[in-house]
Amino acid sequence: MLLNQLKNNDIRYIKGVGEKKALLFQKLNIFNVYDLLTFYPFRYEDRTALKKIKDIIPGQIQTVIGRVVGHDHFRIRGRRTILKIFIGDDTGFFSLICYNRNFLKDILKKEMKVFISSSKFIYKYNELQTADFEYEIIDDDNDTSNIHTNRIVPIYHSTENLSNKFVRVLVYRELKKIIDDIEDAVPSELLHKYKLPDFNLCLYKMHFPSDMSELELVRRRLAFDRFFFLELVLALNKRNITLTDKKQKYTKKVLMNKFCENLKFTLTTDQKNVLKEILTDMNASKCMNRLLMGDVGSGKTIVALISSLVAAENKIQVAFMVPTEILALQHYTNIKEFLKDYNVQVELLVGNQKIKERAEVLESIRTGSADLIIGTHALIEENVQFNDLGYIVIDEQHRFGVLQRAKMHLKAPSPDVLVMTATPIPRTLSLTVYGDLDISVIREMPPGRKVIKTLHFYEKRVNEVYDFLRKEMLQSHQVYVVYPLVKESEKMDLKDAQSMYLNFRDHIFKDFNTGLIHGKMKKEEKERIMNEFRKGHIDLLVSTTVIEVGVDVANASVMVVEHAERFGIAQLHQLRGRIGRGDIASTCILITGYGLSEEGRKRMNALVKYNDGFKLAEIDLELRGPGELMGTKQTGLPDLKPANLIEDRKILETSREEAFRIVDKDPQLKAHPVVAEYLKNDNFKELNLIKVS
Ligand code: ADP
Ligand code: MG
Repeated sequence: MLLNQLKNNDIRYIKGVGEKKALLFQKLNIFNVYDLLTFYPFRYEDRTALKKIKDIIPGQIQTVIGRVVGHDHFRIRGRRTILKIFIGDDTGFFSLICYNRNFLKDILKKEMKVFISSSKFIYKYNELQTADFEYEIIDDDNDTSNIHTNRIVPIYHSTENLSNKFVRVLVYRELKKIIDDIEDAVPSELLHKYKLPDFNLCLYKMHFPSDMSELELVRRRLAFDRFFFLELVLALNKRNITLTDKKQKYTKKVLMNKFCENLKFTLTTDQKNVLKEILTDMNASKCMNRLLMGDVGSGKTIVALISSLVAAENKIQVAFMVPTEILALQHYTNIKEFLKDYNVQVELLVGNQKIKERAEVLESIRTGSADLIIGTHALIEENVQFNDLGYIVIDEQHRFGVLQRAKMHLKAPSPDVLVMTATPIPRTLSLTVYGDLDISVIREMPPGRKVIKTLHFYEKRVNEVYDFLRKEMLQSHQVYVVYPLVKESEKMDLKDAQSMYLNFRDHIFKDFNTGLIHGKMKKEEKERIMNEFRKGHIDLLVSTTVIEVGVDVANASVMVVEHAERFGIAQLHQLRGRIGRGDIASTCILITGYGLSEEGRKRMNALVKYNDGFKLAEIDLELRGPGELMGTKQTGLPDLKPANLIEDRKILETSREEAFRIVDKDPQLKAHPVVAEYLKNDNFKELNLIKVS
C-alpha cells in the first residue's frame, strides 16, 4: 500500500472520532488518515528523563509523574477564588496554581496519576509551585498508555476540545495498523544511491522517535519524498507543455524592426538577450512558458511590448493582463502612444467601464479586430471571447492568484505565455513554484539611473520629512506620500490617505498642488489624477498602495511611506521603484512608529541597506518563510511539511535532478509504475492549475 492511498480513508470513520470530532480535525486541515499521519509533531518532549519531585530544578523545563493528593482554594485581593491542586510522589509535593482554570478541579481528581510538565517551577510562600504547566492524565488500563510516558513524546498543534493526548493515541493506533504494509514509493535505485532509510520506519519515528538524535535523519528522508514528488509533477508539467504543438506562427517581423529602429532609447544588453530568448521560444514549435524576472524599473514592459508586436503583426491576438486598473490605464496610454503610427488596434478592458464602451471592446475582441488587449482580471471573465488568442503576457504576476492565471490560459488552445515579475524569486522558490517555467532575467538597469537613497525616520521627525518634501517640490520635482489605509479607521490608530490629503491640501502644503488617488475611486477619476500627475500638474500625490506596481513618472523624486512597518519588504521595494525612474537623484523615506518589532526593524534596515531586489527577496524569505513570502495561495505553493525550503535546499536540488532525469528518460513513467500510482493520489493539484492541460 502507498501512504497517500490513505487519503481515501475519512477521518470520521476512525474509531473514537465521529462527526463532531471530525469537524475539529478539519480545523487542523485533517480530513483523512493520510492527513493525520502526516500531521507531524511540532516538538517533542523527552519524558525519559523523569524527575522525582525533590529533584525539580526551578526555572528549567521539568517533567514529573505524581498523584493528585488534594485540592484547595485561596483568594487574591480578597475577591477572586483560585484553585490550587497538590501533586505528590514518594519524595515530596508541589502545587499547581490554576488561575482561570477552576474547571481543572473536575478533571484532575484526587488519586489520579498525572504527568506535569513545566518550565516555571518556583519556590514561593515556602512551597514549590507552578502556575504555567501542561498536564496529562496517565491511564494505566489503556493499551496506549505507554506512548505518553517514559519516552520521547510527540507534541502536536492540537486545537480546543481535541487534546494532544487524543491526537497522539489516534496517530499511534493508525500507524500500528498500517505501518508494515506501507510501500516505499521512491524508486529503489534512488534509495540505494542516497542511502535513504526505510520510509515506513521514518514515518513511524517522525511521530515516535526512540532517540532525538535520529529525528533529523528521519525528517530528511520524509523531506526528500515530498520534494521528489513535487518535482516529478513539475517535470511532467514542463514536458507536457513543451510537447503541445501550437498553430500560431510568427513569421513577419517588419513592424517589430521598424518599431525598434524608432525607439527613443537603445535596449540594454540584458533586454536584448531576453528578447532574443522570447522570440526563439515564439518561433519554436512548442508553446512558450517563460518567466521574466527583472527588478522594478529594469524595463520589462518594453520587451513584452516588442514581442507582442510580433504577434499582432501576424494577426495573433495578444492579451496583456495586469493587476490594477491604474497600471492597465498607464500601459494602455503608453502603448497607444508608442503605436500611434502603426497599424495595431489596441483595446482596454477593465472592471468599471461604461456599458456601451465595454460592449464595443468585447465585440472587437470577439471578431478579432482588436490585436492587443490590455486589461485587468476583467480579461478572464467568462463573457470575454477571443477570436484567436495566441500570446498571453501577465505583468506583475505575483499579484495574481493561481486560479486567475489558469483561467487566462484557458482562453486559448495553446498559448505562448510570458509572465513577468519584479518580485524576484529566490532560487529555491524558483525550483518549486516556477519549476516548470523557463526563466529569463534582466539584471541591468537602463543607463543613467541614479541610486535611490533610502532613509528610515521615526514618526517624531515627520516635520523634517515634510520640510524636505517642500524643498524638492520647489525644485519642480514631484513626490508621493503613501498610507496603509484609504479612510480613517476606528479600529486602528493610523494616518489615512484621505485625511492626510485634506491636511496637506489645506494646511501643510497649501502652496502646492496636491492630489489623492486610491483603489476605491472611479476609473475616470483615477485616470484624470494619474494624467495630471504625469503632466506635472500635481506636485504631491497622496496614495495607498494602488500605485505600488508599474506606475511610471520619471519626474517623481521622493517616495514617503508612512506607517512603513505595515508593509512587507517586497511591497516597500515596489513602492520605492516608483522613483528613480529618470535621471534625477531620488530619495525614499520610510516612517515608522517607535513600537517597531524586531522583525520590523530588520525589514527597514534591509531596505535602507539594499537596493537590489534579489538580495531583498532572499532576506524576505529568511525573515518570513516561503509560505508567507508570496502567500501560499498566491503562489500555489503546496504544503511541503516536513520539508523546509530554506534548510533543505540541498535535498530539493538533488530530488529535482533525479525527478527530471526520470521524466526525461521515461516520460510516460512506464518503467516506474509505483511512482505513477503515487502521483495519481498526490498530483499537487495546486500546481496543475497553473497549467493548461
Ligand atoms: P519595469 O516594468 O521592469 O519595472 P518599465 O518597463 O516600466 O520597468 O521601465 C521603466 C522605465 O524605463 C520606462 O519609462 C521605460 O520606458 C524606460 N526604459 C526601459 N528600457 C530602457 C532603456 N533601455 N533605456 C532607457 N530607458 C528605458
Ligand atoms: Mg512593469
